[in-house]
Amino acid sequence: MADMIEQIANLMRLTQNAVVVTGAGISTEAGIPDFRGDKGIYRQLGEDRVMRIINIDFFKAHPDQFYSFYRQYFKFPEVEPSPAHKILARLEEQGMIKGVVTQNIDNLHQQAGSRNVIAVHGNAEEFICMNSHCQKIYDHEYFADNTETVPHCSACGAVIKPNVVLFGENINNYIGARQLILDARLLIVIGSSLTVYPLAGFVNEFCTLAKDLVIINKGPTQLDYAARYKLDVSVGSTGEILEEIYRKLQR
Ligand code: NAD
Repeated sequence: MADMIEQIANLMRLTQNAVVVTGAGISTEAGIPDFRGDKGIYRQLGEDRVMRIINIDFFKAHPDQFYSFYRQYFKFPEVEPSPAHKILARLEEQGMIKGVVTQNIDNLHQQAGSRNVIAVHGNAEEFICMNSHCQKIYDHEYFADNTETVPHCSACGAVIKPNVVLFGENINNYIGARQLILDARLLIVIGSSLTVYPLAGFVNEFCTLAKDLVIINKGPTQLDYAARYKLDVSVGSTGEILEEIYRKLQR
Protein backbone atom coordinates (compact mmCIF):
# COMPACT_ATOMS: atom_id res chain seq x y z
CA MET A 1 0.00 0.00 0.00
CA ALA A 2 2.75 2.51 0.98
CA ASP A 3 4.53 1.79 -2.28
CA MET A 4 1.37 2.38 -4.31
CA ILE A 5 0.75 5.67 -2.51
CA GLU A 6 4.27 6.78 -3.43
CA GLN A 7 3.66 5.81 -7.08
CA ILE A 8 0.35 7.66 -7.22
CA ALA A 9 1.96 10.82 -5.79
CA ASN A 10 4.73 10.49 -8.42
CA LEU A 11 2.16 10.18 -11.20
CA MET A 12 0.33 13.28 -9.96
CA ARG A 13 3.56 15.27 -9.79
CA LEU A 14 4.60 14.10 -13.24
CA THR A 15 1.33 14.66 -15.07
CA GLN A 16 0.05 17.83 -13.30
CA ASN A 17 -3.24 16.97 -15.00
CA ALA A 18 -5.31 14.77 -12.73
CA VAL A 19 -9.08 14.74 -12.58
CA VAL A 20 -11.03 13.10 -9.76
CA VAL A 21 -14.32 11.21 -10.06
CA THR A 22 -16.18 10.62 -6.82
CA GLY A 23 -19.15 8.53 -5.72
CA ALA A 24 -21.08 8.00 -2.53
CA GLY A 25 -18.08 6.25 -0.89
CA ILE A 26 -16.18 9.51 -0.35
CA SER A 27 -19.05 10.84 1.77
CA THR A 28 -19.46 7.81 4.05
CA GLU A 29 -16.49 9.14 6.04
CA ALA A 30 -18.43 12.39 6.49
CA GLY A 31 -21.38 10.39 7.90
CA ILE A 32 -23.66 9.95 4.86
CA PRO A 33 -24.34 6.29 4.08
CA ASP A 34 -23.93 5.08 0.50
CA PHE A 35 -26.81 3.24 -1.21
CA ARG A 36 -25.11 -0.11 -1.69
CA GLY A 37 -23.30 -0.41 1.66
CA ASP A 38 -24.57 -2.23 4.77
CA LYS A 39 -26.56 0.77 6.04
CA GLY A 40 -27.53 1.82 2.53
CA ILE A 41 -31.08 2.28 1.33
CA TYR A 42 -30.74 -0.40 -1.38
CA ARG A 43 -29.96 -2.98 1.31
CA GLN A 44 -32.78 -1.80 3.58
CA LEU A 45 -35.55 -1.46 1.01
CA GLY A 46 -34.40 -3.29 -2.11
CA GLU A 47 -32.82 -1.65 -5.14
CA ASP A 48 -35.84 -2.20 -7.43
CA ARG A 49 -38.27 -0.52 -5.07
CA VAL A 50 -36.03 2.51 -4.54
CA MET A 51 -35.31 2.89 -8.25
CA ARG A 52 -39.01 2.71 -9.06
CA ILE A 53 -39.76 5.62 -6.72
CA ILE A 54 -36.83 7.93 -7.39
CA ASN A 55 -37.89 8.06 -11.00
CA ILE A 56 -39.15 11.10 -12.91
CA ASP A 57 -42.29 9.34 -14.21
CA PHE A 58 -43.20 8.22 -10.70
CA PHE A 59 -42.57 11.76 -9.43
CA LYS A 60 -44.91 13.26 -12.04
CA ALA A 61 -47.63 10.65 -11.51
CA HIS A 62 -47.50 10.42 -7.70
CA PRO A 63 -45.75 13.48 -6.23
CA ASP A 64 -47.42 12.88 -2.85
CA GLN A 65 -46.04 9.33 -2.56
CA PHE A 66 -42.66 10.49 -3.84
CA TYR A 67 -42.45 13.20 -1.17
CA SER A 68 -43.56 10.92 1.62
CA PHE A 69 -40.75 8.49 0.65
CA TYR A 70 -38.28 11.34 0.16
CA ARG A 71 -38.99 12.85 3.57
CA GLN A 72 -38.58 9.48 5.26
CA TYR A 73 -35.45 8.15 3.54
CA PHE A 74 -33.64 11.01 1.81
CA LYS A 75 -32.90 13.28 4.68
CA PHE A 76 -29.12 13.53 4.77
CA PRO A 77 -27.67 14.07 8.23
CA GLU A 78 -26.18 17.53 8.68
CA VAL A 79 -22.50 16.82 8.33
CA GLU A 80 -19.23 18.56 7.56
CA PRO A 81 -16.98 17.62 4.62
CA SER A 82 -14.63 14.73 5.46
CA PRO A 83 -10.81 15.04 5.47
CA ALA A 84 -10.89 13.47 1.99
CA HIS A 85 -13.12 16.26 0.63
CA LYS A 86 -10.86 18.89 2.20
CA ILE A 87 -7.65 17.43 0.77
CA LEU A 88 -9.13 17.36 -2.74
CA ALA A 89 -9.95 21.05 -2.38
CA ARG A 90 -6.36 21.81 -1.28
CA LEU A 91 -4.92 19.78 -4.17
CA GLU A 92 -7.04 21.75 -6.63
CA GLU A 93 -5.83 25.00 -5.08
CA GLN A 94 -2.22 23.84 -5.56
CA GLY A 95 -2.90 22.97 -9.20
CA MET A 96 -2.46 19.23 -8.65
CA ILE A 97 -5.97 18.38 -9.78
CA LYS A 98 -8.02 20.10 -12.45
CA GLY A 99 -11.45 19.32 -11.08
CA VAL A 100 -13.93 16.89 -9.62
CA VAL A 101 -16.78 15.13 -11.39
CA THR A 102 -19.10 13.77 -8.72
CA GLN A 103 -22.20 11.61 -8.61
CA ASN A 104 -22.90 12.90 -5.13
CA ILE A 105 -25.74 15.26 -4.38
CA ASP A 106 -24.59 16.31 -0.90
CA ASN A 107 -22.72 19.50 -1.87
CA LEU A 108 -19.74 18.48 0.30
CA HIS A 109 -17.04 19.07 -2.33
CA GLN A 110 -18.29 22.63 -2.80
CA GLN A 111 -18.49 23.14 0.98
CA ALA A 112 -14.92 21.87 1.35
CA GLY A 113 -13.74 24.56 -1.10
CA SER A 114 -13.42 22.67 -4.39
CA ARG A 115 -14.15 25.11 -7.21
CA ASN A 116 -14.31 23.14 -10.41
CA VAL A 117 -16.99 20.65 -9.43
CA ILE A 118 -19.39 19.06 -11.91
CA ALA A 119 -22.20 17.51 -9.87
CA VAL A 120 -23.78 15.35 -12.56
CA HIS A 121 -26.65 14.20 -10.34
CA GLY A 122 -27.47 17.66 -9.00
CA ASN A 123 -27.69 19.08 -5.50
CA ALA A 124 -30.06 17.82 -2.80
CA GLU A 125 -29.77 21.13 -0.94
CA GLU A 126 -31.88 22.73 -3.65
CA PHE A 127 -35.39 22.40 -5.11
CA ILE A 128 -36.49 23.51 -8.57
CA CYS A 129 -39.84 24.58 -9.98
CA MET A 130 -41.12 22.03 -12.52
CA ASN A 131 -42.63 24.74 -14.75
CA SER A 132 -40.08 25.01 -17.58
CA HIS A 133 -40.86 28.74 -17.98
CA CYS A 134 -40.19 29.40 -14.30
CA GLN A 135 -37.57 26.95 -12.92
CA LYS A 136 -37.16 29.02 -9.77
CA ILE A 137 -34.60 27.52 -7.39
CA TYR A 138 -35.36 27.15 -3.69
CA ASP A 139 -33.03 26.31 -0.83
CA HIS A 140 -33.63 23.49 1.61
CA GLU A 141 -35.11 25.85 4.17
CA TYR A 142 -38.06 26.64 1.90
CA PHE A 143 -38.80 22.91 1.70
CA ALA A 144 -38.29 22.29 5.43
CA ASP A 145 -40.60 25.20 6.35
CA ASN A 146 -43.26 24.13 3.85
CA THR A 147 -46.24 22.35 5.39
CA GLU A 148 -47.79 21.07 2.13
CA THR A 149 -47.56 17.35 1.34
CA VAL A 150 -46.29 18.34 -2.10
CA PRO A 151 -44.48 21.69 -2.03
CA HIS A 152 -45.30 24.30 -4.66
CA CYS A 153 -43.51 27.26 -6.23
CA SER A 154 -44.35 30.57 -4.57
CA ALA A 155 -43.93 32.38 -7.90
CA CYS A 156 -46.07 30.31 -10.31
CA GLY A 157 -47.77 27.64 -8.20
CA ALA A 158 -46.24 24.61 -10.00
CA VAL A 159 -44.87 21.63 -8.10
CA ILE A 160 -41.23 21.88 -7.04
CA LYS A 161 -38.83 18.93 -7.26
CA PRO A 162 -35.57 18.18 -5.45
CA ASN A 163 -32.86 19.54 -7.78
CA VAL A 164 -31.39 16.09 -8.25
CA VAL A 165 -31.34 13.87 -11.30
CA LEU A 166 -33.98 11.17 -10.95
CA PHE A 167 -33.94 7.95 -12.95
CA GLY A 168 -35.26 8.75 -16.42
CA GLU A 169 -33.73 12.25 -16.47
CA ASN A 170 -30.58 13.43 -18.23
CA ILE A 171 -27.53 14.09 -16.11
CA ASN A 172 -26.28 17.66 -15.67
CA ASN A 173 -23.51 18.91 -17.92
CA TYR A 174 -23.05 15.63 -19.80
CA ILE A 175 -20.66 17.22 -22.31
CA GLY A 176 -18.58 19.10 -19.72
CA ALA A 177 -18.22 16.06 -17.45
CA ARG A 178 -17.20 13.75 -20.30
CA GLN A 179 -14.72 16.31 -21.66
CA LEU A 180 -13.07 16.96 -18.29
CA ILE A 181 -12.61 13.20 -17.81
CA LEU A 182 -11.33 12.46 -21.31
CA ASP A 183 -8.90 15.41 -21.24
CA ALA A 184 -7.28 14.19 -18.02
CA ARG A 185 -3.88 12.56 -18.17
CA LEU A 186 -4.54 10.80 -14.87
CA LEU A 187 -7.99 9.88 -13.58
CA ILE A 188 -8.50 9.10 -9.90
CA VAL A 189 -11.81 7.43 -8.98
CA ILE A 190 -12.72 7.59 -5.30
CA GLY A 191 -15.61 5.80 -3.59
CA SER A 192 -17.56 4.59 -6.58
CA SER A 193 -18.43 1.07 -7.62
CA LEU A 194 -18.54 2.41 -11.22
CA THR A 195 -21.89 0.81 -11.88
CA VAL A 196 -23.93 3.99 -12.31
CA TYR A 197 -24.16 5.25 -15.91
CA PRO A 198 -23.38 7.39 -17.80
CA LEU A 199 -20.48 8.43 -15.53
CA ALA A 200 -19.13 4.88 -15.40
CA GLY A 201 -19.25 4.93 -19.21
CA PHE A 202 -17.03 8.05 -19.32
CA VAL A 203 -14.47 6.31 -17.10
CA ASN A 204 -14.67 3.26 -19.35
CA GLU A 205 -14.04 5.47 -22.38
CA PHE A 206 -11.06 7.10 -20.62
CA CYS A 207 -9.58 3.61 -20.15
CA THR A 208 -9.52 3.04 -23.90
CA LEU A 209 -7.17 6.01 -24.32
CA ALA A 210 -4.13 4.33 -22.74
CA LYS A 211 -3.91 6.85 -19.92
CA ASP A 212 -3.55 6.17 -16.20
CA LEU A 213 -6.49 5.20 -14.02
CA VAL A 214 -6.24 5.01 -10.22
CA ILE A 215 -9.10 3.61 -8.13
CA ILE A 216 -9.47 4.13 -4.38
CA ASN A 217 -12.53 2.21 -3.22
CA LYS A 218 -13.81 -0.06 -0.48
CA GLY A 219 -14.42 -3.31 -2.32
CA PRO A 220 -14.46 -4.12 -6.01
CA THR A 221 -15.47 -1.85 -8.88
CA GLN A 222 -16.41 -2.62 -12.47
CA LEU A 223 -13.10 -1.29 -13.79
CA ASP A 224 -10.53 -2.70 -11.36
CA TYR A 225 -8.97 -4.67 -14.20
CA ALA A 226 -8.22 -1.45 -16.10
CA ALA A 227 -6.62 0.44 -13.21
CA ARG A 228 -2.90 1.04 -13.04
CA TYR A 229 -3.26 1.18 -9.27
CA LYS A 230 -6.23 -0.03 -7.21
CA LEU A 231 -6.22 0.78 -3.51
CA ASP A 232 -8.79 -1.18 -1.52
CA VAL A 233 -9.87 0.75 1.56
CA SER A 234 -10.42 -2.38 3.65
CA VAL A 235 -8.36 -1.05 6.54
CA GLY A 236 -7.94 2.62 7.40
CA SER A 237 -9.80 5.27 5.47
CA THR A 238 -9.82 7.14 2.19
CA GLY A 239 -9.06 10.31 4.17
CA GLU A 240 -5.83 8.75 5.52
CA ILE A 241 -4.79 7.58 2.03
CA LEU A 242 -5.33 11.05 0.55
CA GLU A 243 -3.52 12.67 3.49
CA GLU A 244 -0.54 10.41 2.80
CA ILE A 245 -0.58 11.30 -0.91
CA TYR A 246 -0.83 14.98 0.03
CA ARG A 247 2.16 14.72 2.42
CA LYS A 248 4.26 13.09 -0.29
CA LEU A 249 3.35 15.81 -2.77
CA GLN A 250 4.50 18.54 -0.35
CA ARG A 251 8.06 17.17 -0.21
P1 NAD B 1 -21.69 3.71 -5.77
O1 NAD B 1 -22.25 2.68 -6.63
O2 NAD B 1 -20.77 4.64 -6.46
O3 NAD B 1 -20.97 2.94 -4.54
C1 NAD B 1 -20.22 3.53 -3.53
C2 NAD B 1 -18.91 2.75 -3.39
O4 NAD B 1 -18.13 3.36 -2.37
C3 NAD B 1 -19.10 1.27 -2.97
O5 NAD B 1 -18.33 0.43 -3.78
C4 NAD B 1 -18.59 1.25 -1.52
O6 NAD B 1 -18.04 0.01 -1.15
C5 NAD B 1 -17.55 2.34 -1.57
N1 NAD B 1 -17.20 2.92 -0.27
C6 NAD B 1 -17.95 2.98 0.86
N2 NAD B 1 -17.27 3.59 1.85
C7 NAD B 1 -16.06 3.93 1.33
C8 NAD B 1 -14.91 4.60 1.84
N3 NAD B 1 -14.86 5.04 3.11
N4 NAD B 1 -13.87 4.80 1.02
C9 NAD B 1 -13.89 4.35 -0.26
N5 NAD B 1 -14.93 3.70 -0.80
C10 NAD B 1 -16.01 3.51 -0.02
O7 NAD B 1 -22.75 4.60 -5.10
P2 NAD B 1 -24.13 4.16 -4.45
O8 NAD B 1 -23.96 4.15 -2.99
O9 NAD B 1 -24.64 2.93 -5.11
O10 NAD B 1 -25.08 5.36 -4.87
C11 NAD B 1 -25.62 5.45 -6.17
C12 NAD B 1 -25.93 6.88 -6.50
O11 NAD B 1 -26.79 7.45 -5.51
C13 NAD B 1 -24.72 7.77 -6.46
O12 NAD B 1 -24.10 7.79 -7.69
C14 NAD B 1 -25.32 9.14 -6.06
O13 NAD B 1 -25.89 9.77 -7.15
C15 NAD B 1 -26.42 8.75 -5.12
N6 NAD B 1 -25.98 8.85 -3.72
C16 NAD B 1 -25.39 10.00 -3.29
C17 NAD B 1 -24.98 10.11 -1.98
C18 NAD B 1 -24.32 11.38 -1.54
O14 NAD B 1 -24.52 12.42 -2.18
N7 NAD B 1 -23.51 11.38 -0.48
C19 NAD B 1 -25.15 9.05 -1.09
C20 NAD B 1 -25.78 7.88 -1.56
C21 NAD B 1 -26.17 7.80 -2.89
